[in-house]
Amino acid sequence: KIRVRYAPSPTGLLHIGNARTALFNYLFARHHGGDFIIRIEDTDRERHVEDGERSQLENLRWLGIDWDESPETHENYRQSERLSLYQKYIDQLLTEGKAYYSYKTPEELEADHEKQEAAGIPPHYINEYAGMNENEKEAYIAERKAQGITPVVRISVNETAIYKWNDIVKGDIEFEGGNIGGDWVIQKRDGYPTYNFAVVVDDHDMQISHVIRGDDHIANTPKQLVVYEALGWEAPRFGHMTLIINSETGKKLSKRDTNTLQFIEDYRKKGYMSDAIFNFVALLGWNPGGEKEIFSRAELVELFDEKRLSKSPAAFDQKKLDWMDNEYIKNADFTDVFALTKPFLEAAGRLDSRAEELVKLYQPQMKSADEIVELTELFYGDFPELTEEAKEMLAAESTPVALRSFREKLAALDEADFTAESIFPLFKATQKETGVKGKMLWMPIRIAASGSMHGPELPETIALLGKEKVLAHLDTALN
Ligand code: GLU
Repeated sequence: KIRVRYAPSPTGLLHIGNARTALFNYLFARHHGGDFIIRIEDTDRERHVEDGERSQLENLRWLGIDWDESPETHENYRQSERLSLYQKYIDQLLTEGKAYYSYKTPEELEADHEKQEAAGIPPHYINEYAGMNENEKEAYIAERKAQGITPVVRISVNETAIYKWNDIVKGDIEFEGGNIGGDWVIQKRDGYPTYNFAVVVDDHDMQISHVIRGDDHIANTPKQLVVYEALGWEAPRFGHMTLIINSETGKKLSKRDTNTLQFIEDYRKKGYMSDAIFNFVALLGWNPGGEKEIFSRAELVELFDEKRLSKSPAAFDQKKLDWMDNEYIKNADFTDVFALTKPFLEAAGRLDSRAEELVKLYQPQMKSADEIVELTELFYGDFPELTEEAKEMLAAESTPVALRSFREKLAALDEADFTAESIFPLFKATQKETGVKGKMLWMPIRIAASGSMHGPELPETIALLGKEKVLAHLDTALN
């Protein structure tokens, strides 16, 4: 049975890269009718963040991802609760002579590495027992213990073996045992297992069939294969997804990049639509072929094919995300869009009787719900500063005649009749009366009324501004 997992370390908010890992595992599981599991990898106690687990899960839920097993419903789905299981296998490896206690101090290891670096060779653990006979070993251990040194446990690596696997994304990969860096630590001084050890015990114990993760883990895979071999277990299939690059810098997406938002939380805070983010993340390093870019969750589950995971880096393009969110907002139910904008309108003190109409007016334009405040500035703030281009347009010879005629007709409308429907025919009437038409007619009116050459439907905008305000705007332009 297909069983995959997303195994976050609760060290912070849900990053877009982790969201992608979760999402591809989810799509893979759902597509094949398998199980999707969440396991919390919290053995790095120094990097532990209070609330990290809850916020990860909450943001996944917001994205529309669900799962079959997790610490919420299953016991011991956090690594910190599984220490006795790791201990059992560590003891087994110690007993079988496949692992051993190592007493080298961090200072000694550091000294080894410095020597290796000076010689131009990669860091490599040098077996501290090499060349010792049994008596010497015993004496060495006794001395170290007397010094109060706590040992770590290291697993023996066969340095002449070749570790290979057929990667779902990258194809056949071979790794020489000699490049692993020597016998590595499976249990730290604090008694906690290392990631590379715990992950194997867990994936085996939870019957994980496929491990799909970022290719920053590719160098970990041979180490993990050492453990599978030592414990006599069959390894799952691995797939390592290419990294995500920032389309503007061309470099690996970094938390320090300032031109993008990278945490799901940030998108939520700005009022992006979860459907859009889901769609966008699903296309980071994967696509079903063809030109189409907008897919529902159900379509993505249906279409997902791990063989189409991209071998080249995925470009993260904030502009594309904004385009996509706008596509979703445009086509969403008004009530959903209104609900998204509400907190922003409220915070700006603009949740008034016009709010719904204004959101309707700007729905086609919004790239994220927080933009509603900026977009409605005209209705609450000062009249905008005109651009040079707009000023030129207003200075056209035909402008005063057209504006005056239009103003007269607006002024004749009753307050109660100051609606888009009543305003719409006034453009035609102005054209008939003045002979000014097309862009030369409506552009000066748009600029005079709204202060901008761009904007939503003009009759609606004028109606929402209200008679008094629009007439005042037109008068300013005419003077
Ligand atoms: N806890 C690891 C991480 O956050 C999971 C790696 C894996 O999928 O094996 O990167």
